[in-house]
Amino acid sequence: MSGATERREALVEVYREASGCTLCPLAETRTKVVFGAGNADADLMFIGEAPGAEEDRQGLPFVGRAGGLLNELLGEIGLDRDSVFIANTLMCRPPGNRDPQPGELEACRPYLLEKVRLIEPKVIVTLGNFATKLITANQSGITKVRGRPQVHELGARTVHVFPILHPAAALRTPGLRATMSEDFATLGRLLAEPAPEQTQAEAPAPGPMRGEDQLDIFAP
Ligand code: URA
Repeated sequence: MSGATERREALVEVYREASGCTLCPLAETRTKVVFGAGNADADLMFIGEAPGAEEDRQGLPFVGRAGGLLNELLGEIGLDRDSVFIANTLMCRPPGNRDPQPGELEACRPYLLEKVRLIEPKVIVTLGNFATKLITANQSGITKVRGRPQVHELGARTVHVFPILHPAAALRTPGLRATMSEDFATLGRLLAEPAPEQTQAEAPAPGPMRGEDQLDIFAP
């Protein structure tokens, strides 16, 4: 993927397709597809669990209380939402905020991998158990693996993966707030390091761009 504009346009194409997704039963209960939002050219991508009630209403990720904490933590390392890209393992809200089901994660995964392929982040932060297990393909619990960077190949991309607690955990257990700050400080240092060496050939470019209007959902 070459320039930021091409990246954004290609992502908008995927957004359009995802907006009408009916690949799993959550299509019947969602209000809006929460595709993800932020900077299509970001070095840092967050992957959370699934939209909650407020996200489902607005069609945007992390706009509820957990999102407020995520904003605060980003501020601690001099970043904001417009400089990163935020997505989830699922784009649609599970009813009653129940856990994502294996079939739902499987149905949504190609969309997530396509976001990674197009954005080409240097670091992916997985928030909590579901995102961490999905992206690292390892069943170790988040409290065991948090705060230590790993390297993974996702699609054709080699990335730093940095698992941390889900912000909702720190809202439930305020004693975990300091751990989250520590992990964000480590994240700041990780971002200053070079991207991992790319071990695979670059994936082929997507089909021709249609050059349609871009959506505000992706900050420039
Ligand atoms: N929790 C998540 O994991 N994702 C959101 O978008 C909001 C809350």
